[in-house]
Amino acid sequence: MLHVAEADILIKKNTPDWGSESVPLAHSLGRVLSEAVISDRDQPPFHRVAMDGFAVAQATSGVAVEIQGKQLAGETPLTLQKGKAIEIMTGAALPQNASAVVPYEKCAIEGSFVRFNEQVAAFENIHRKGADIKAGQTLIEAGTTINAASVAALATFGKAQVRVKKQPRIVFIATGNELVPVNEKPLDHQIRMSNNYMISSILHKIGLPCDLVHLADEKQALASGIEKALQQYDMLLFSGGVSMGSADFVPEVLKSSGVHEVFHKIAQKPGKPLWFGNKHTQLVFGLPGNPVSSVLCFVRYVLPLLGAKKTIQVKPARAFNLKSNLTHFVAVKLVCKNNELLAEPIENNGSGDILSLYAADGFLEIQGGAGGFNTSTSYPFHYLP
Ligand code: AMP
Ligand code: MG
Repeated sequence: MLHVAEADILIKKNTPDWGSESVPLAHSLGRVLSEAVISDRDQPPFHRVAMDGFAVAQATSGVAVEIQGKQLAGETPLTLQKGKAIEIMTGAALPQNASAVVPYEKCAIEGSFVRFNEQVAAFENIHRKGADIKAGQTLIEAGTTINAASVAALATFGKAQVRVKKQPRIVFIATGNELVPVNEKPLDHQIRMSNNYMISSILHKIGLPCDLVHLADEKQALASGIEKALQQYDMLLFSGGVSMGSADFVPEVLKSSGVHEVFHKIAQKPGKPLWFGNKHTQLVFGLPGNPVSSVLCFVRYVLPLLGAKKTIQVKPARAFNLKSNLTHFVAVKLVCKNNELLAEPIENNGSGDILSLYAADGFLEIQGGAGGFNTSTSYPFHYLP
């Protein structure tokens, strides 16, 4: 069976480029850059005063000099006369002939004179021109997800519109004869479907609309549902119908609808039945129906290709048994013990027990089998939104 690392490679290899589009800067957070962010000018663009105080050519402790004038941020730089000081504010451009700023805290104003309590070195309290980046240099590579600081960088470089990767149009297709929507009353042998709401709400949170469809475990219904979906969407997310059951028709019908199977089943727990395939530039994920497996597979394999995932490494808070040789995804809560961030396993009743997961922050990815795992090693932690 496929190892998780091999599945990652296959998904990456088969993920198409859905093109790029231009979005207003204010709507760019969370999107993936399709071009590098390049500085249009030196940053800072001038020797930027970093403290309120007095601009001087040099300051001698105990000596008072005449105050020549005042310069606020945004004003054209004055020219400092020999032996004088210019009162200056943070954000102003350093006056001509000045070399440093003495902050108010280190001065005593005496009428039209200022006395310095300390000496300053050249460029003290000056954020030098080009110290952060030079004009024409790349700050952020294409393919990076835009965070809040990236938005500030884009604004700094004058990017009112940002070129980002187009997002796929997504449909979530819940399969199962036993499922009813949240606003319907289930019969005794039925359940309310939840995977579709759980996963579409994650997509909604990252700004991705997602249509919802429910199909019966019936080959004809699946075939026509798949055909319709393939006409409208770039990504089809199925839940259920990909395991060994005699009504698990999804892989078979997908294949007969012309969707190429890239892989079926991963050596992991939970989420072993995951199915992945493609047709031209369309991707299809068959997520397992069990809710914990479903959301784990979504977070672990789908979110990264939407640019919406950051993985950190965390140590387990205590030892626990991992019997099989599979890659295990252990539901955990992050806790702080003795000043260390640790992952505390959550008690649960298996992959059908979605209710236990409300208390989890995410999953710890641990390889089972020989060697096992230990509490002094950090493992990838996958955040559950
Ligand atoms: P399946 O993978 O279709 O065999 O489904 C496995 C289990 O997950 C069954 O108990 C289903 O009732 C349940 N299940 C399937 N789809 C959903 C869904 N959309 N929401 C909640 N539970 C589901
Ligand atoms: Mg089913």
